[in-house]
Parts: sequence; C-alpha cells; structure tokens
Amino acid sequence: MEENVKKLNFLEEIIEDDLKSGKVDSILTRFPPEPNGYLHLGHAKSLCINFGLAQKYGGKTNLRYDDTNPAKEDTEYVDAIKEDIRWMGFQWDKELYASDYFDQLYEWAEQMILNGQAYVDDQTQEEISKGRGTVDAPGVNSPWRDRTPEENLRLFREMRDGKYAEGEKVLRAKIDMAHPNMMFRDPLLYRIKYASHHRTGDKWCIYPMYDFTHGQCDSIEHITHSICTLEFDVHRPLYDWFIKTLDIYPSHQYEFARLNLTYTLMSKRKLLELVQMGLVSGWDDPRMPTLCGVRRRGYTAEALKMFCEKIGVSKRDQLMDIQLLEWCVRQDLNARARRYMVVQDPLKVKITNWPEGQVEWFDCPLNPAEPEGASRKVPFTGELYIERADFMEDAPHKFFRLKPGGEVRLKYTYIIKCENVVKDADGNITELECTYDPASKPGAGEWRSVKGTVHWVSTEFGKEIELRNYDRLFDLADMSQVPEDKDYKDYLNPNSLVVASAWAEPALLEDDSAIAVQFERTGYYIKDKDSTKEKTVFNKTVSLKDSYKPE
Ligand code: ATP
Ligand code: MG
Repeated sequence: MEENVKKLNFLEEIIEDDLKSGKVDSILTRFPPEPNGYLHLGHAKSLCINFGLAQKYGGKTNLRYDDTNPAKEDTEYVDAIKEDIRWMGFQWDKELYASDYFDQLYEWAEQMILNGQAYVDDQTQEEISKGRGTVDAPGVNSPWRDRTPEENLRLFREMRDGKYAEGEKVLRAKIDMAHPNMMFRDPLLYRIKYASHHRTGDKWCIYPMYDFTHGQCDSIEHITHSICTLEFDVHRPLYDWFIKTLDIYPSHQYEFARLNLTYTLMSKRKLLELVQMGLVSGWDDPRMPTLCGVRRRGYTAEALKMFCEKIGVSKRDQLMDIQLLEWCVRQDLNARARRYMVVQDPLKVKITNWPEGQVEWFDCPLNPAEPEGASRKVPFTGELYIERADFMEDAPHKFFRLKPGGEVRLKYTYIIKCENVVKDADGNITELECTYDPASKPGAGEWRSVKGTVHWVSTEFGKEIELRNYDRLFDLADMSQVPEDKDYKDYLNPNSLVVASAWAEPALLEDDSAIAVQFERTGYYIKDKDSTKEKTVFNKTVSLKDSYKPE
C-alpha cells in the first residue's frame, strides 16, 4: 500500500528530535516583529512557520514586539500587526514587548560590568567601526577598554541618568578584539537615544542593542525554538554567548531562508518610503506586498497559507515566482467566490425580435460548483451589452464568438444570431442587430449547442461601476538586481494601476461576500472601501486564467 507521508522539513526534524529526546517537553516559539512598519508577505511565511510548528506539535507562540528602537516605532504599527496576525487566523499565547524587559536587561548589563565583561567606551561611532578591523585583520583595543568596573558602573549609570549626549558614550561587551568572528569584537550593548518610546515614554535614554536583547528575551520567556531568517546566522554564536555568560535558560536559534518574490520588494524601509513619497496610496494600497495591501486586493489568508505550504522551509535563499502565489489565490477563490457578469468594454446588442419592453429574469447559480445552491436573478432585456472583444467583423475561422451571420450563446440564456452590423459615419461599429432563438432557452426542450458563450449585461438594468485594474508594482523580476547606478524606484511600473468603468449586472451591487467575487470570464474582483453611494469601486484581485502551472 502506498502511504502518503510528507517529508519533514528541517525544523520539524529538529523539533521531533527535541521532543523525543526529552530536551523539551513542549515547544514555545515566538513571532518577533519590530513595530516600525506593516507586515508583508515575508512575514506571512514567518507567521506560518512559527505558529504552524506550534500548532502541529501542540505548543504555543508568543507575539513579542522587538521594540528597542524608539525613533522608528509606533503604536499604529503595533495595532496593525495584531490585526494582520488575527486575519491570518493565528492566535498568540502572550503579547509581550522587548521593552517589558528593559529593567532586567539593564540589571544584566550592570552585572557584566561588575564581572569585568563590559565597559563604557567614549570613542565615536566612526572610531569604533574603524577599530573593529576587517575579516582579515584583527581590530585594536579601545583606549577606554581598561576602565575599572567601578568607573564603568558610574559612567553607565550616568549614561542612564541622561548626563551625556547621543553618541558620546556606548556600553560594549569586553570579549576579544582579534576574534575571528567579527561579531565578538566587543559588540555594543547599549546606546544613548533621546526619543520617546511608545511604551516606556521618557523613562529611558539608553536602549539595548539587538544582540543584547533578542536572545535574553527568548530566554526569559523560555522560548524553545527561536526561528529567524538566514541573515541572523552570524549572530547565533553571540546569542549563545550571552545566554552562557549570564547563565540563563538556554533558548536556541534556528534560521530559514527569507521569502523573496519576483517583481516584489519586501524591505519595510523601502515600503515606508513608497508610502511617504506618495508613490502608492498608503500601506494598504492594493499593489503593496503588505498583508493589509493584499487583503484589500482580495487575496485570502487561506491562499497565503497554501502558498507558504507549497514553498516549504529551506535553508537556501531563493526567489519565488509571484505567479505561484497568484495561482494559490485563484485556486482558493475558484472554489468559493460568487459569480457575476460584468462588461468592461461594452458593445451594444439590440435583439430585434424581442417583445418591446419585456424583461425576463433568469435564476443563475452564484457558484457553478453548486448548481442547486444559492442563486442570483439576472434580467434579460431587448438591449444588452457584450464585450467589444467578443465580436469580430472579419473573424478568422477559429473565432467562436460572435461574427456577422454567426451565433453565440448569451451565458445562462438564449442563443443569438448577428444579423446586421451598425456603424457610424467614421465606420466605427456602434451596435449589433441580432435575433434570439426562443427555443434555445436552457431547460426548454432540447439543448442546442453552439461553440461560443459570452457574458452580457442588460443596458436597462446594468449598473456602472469603477474598476481598478492592477498590475505588478515593479517591472524588474529580481528586485535584488537593481544596478548600482539605479534606484529601485526607477523600476516602478507606470501601468500598475489602470482605472476603468464597467457595466455590472444589478445583483453584484447587493453582494455581501466577505471575499472577492468572480467576474465571469475575466477575473476576481473585490469591493473596495473607497466605494460611495454613487459609485461602487472594485479592485482586481487576479485575472481568471493564466498559462502558469506549478510544478
Ligand atoms: P524588513 O527587512 O522588511 O524590515 P525585518 O526582518 O526587519 O524585515 P521584523 O519585523 O524584524 O522585520 O521581522 C519579524 C520576523 O519576520 C523576523 O523573525 C524576520 O526574520 C521575519 N521576516 C522578515 N522578513 C521576512 C521575509 N522576507 N521572509 C521570511 N521571514 C521574514
Ligand atoms: Mg528587523
């Protein structure tokens, strides 16, 4: 018998080993965003890994804000991050902040000073980085390195009490200026920063550095598996060193490859710049790779999870194809989205043998996968719109939509025949005169089949709506390859937003789905918050078809 066993990823292997060997009884992970921006698709991967592993192994996940840089952080981001995590369908155990531990971290710093493991350095930032040496050359000791613990303690307390200006002094660990791992060349522990903190206000004017914060926070919370992205692997030895030096709970760090997507940027700094420069309408502009952006665009949490499942967890950086994400969105919406007919580029059709003034209401399924399920009522009248592209005057042999003398079925309803093409003085086609075949009504007698079916909207009942059709925000596939003499903003796609108007069947305006809907034969769209009583606005989520097939 063939068994469908999915191979474990490397993190699952580690966790299963740790549980089996008794190294840990249960697992506790954490998601550690810095509240200096909105979450993006890369964070979705991190969320799926951290929360997903905890769920799979009956453990828990803490939400811990990494808020040690008051200048860039804000409660707006704190709240938005929580909203996004909830939207993804994850529930954290404890909501915590690195700033909750400032007192404890400060105590540990004093302890290291008293043990001769840390000193106050008066060098400038420039002198410090110069003194650090290079990968090939050892660094040099700071002239302030041999201060006594008493003097260091006094100076550090004065730093804390606001006696010094920013940059005047820092606290450094006293390790080894010739250490082969540059991270160990007396790393900075504290810096002076006069900025109000979103939680601690003006209590502190010194703030701990990342390396002196992250591992200790993990340890205080007894995080068993601290999972982060690959660029932190060089920090791991230092992470372990602080835990060992302070003799505290041994959390461990593991690294996975960050998510990179074609045609997409995921640096919060650059995304913030796009917002601040007004190059997008905000963090939730539907072209942004932020979770609030893709949500407004109509992507679902289910699709994002499907995508994260498909890309898996690897230890090697790679550029993922955004088409795979779009494919997941289509998969999810295809199964769930309600269907409506919308004509974007209208061509008028007059049905010459239709009884004057008659309206016939057709009961059409909201989802073809459930023909007996919920339906909507669609009005058929003697004057309709079809897509201009669904008619061709000099049609090639293989064109199965409408052509002079040809027949097509109007979706859910009758077969019509094009009898006459009406043009204006310049020769532009303004209208088609057609006849309908009353016997071709579905369910009435024998089914007659024609090759083409097109969507349509009654001109009398149709509602005008606004469409925001989106394309990729950038037109360079690998945004890590922006040449030196260029800026990433040079690659903004000028056609990433095209606004159009369209005609919709009336039921669309009554739709109350929580997710995107399908405009039959064209794509998925979602109603936007910019809609007013006068005009309903729809964002394009993704087109209906694509030649892309995942491997
Ligand atoms: P950015 O570089 O966009 O500012 P960051 O790493 O500074 O991102 P954090 O808020 O510190 O953002 O990240 C929170 C968590 O999400 C971290 O564990 C981080 O490693 C992870 N993360 C951030 N970007 C990605 C990504 N592209 N792919 C996977 N995980 C990511
Ligand atoms: Mg960060």
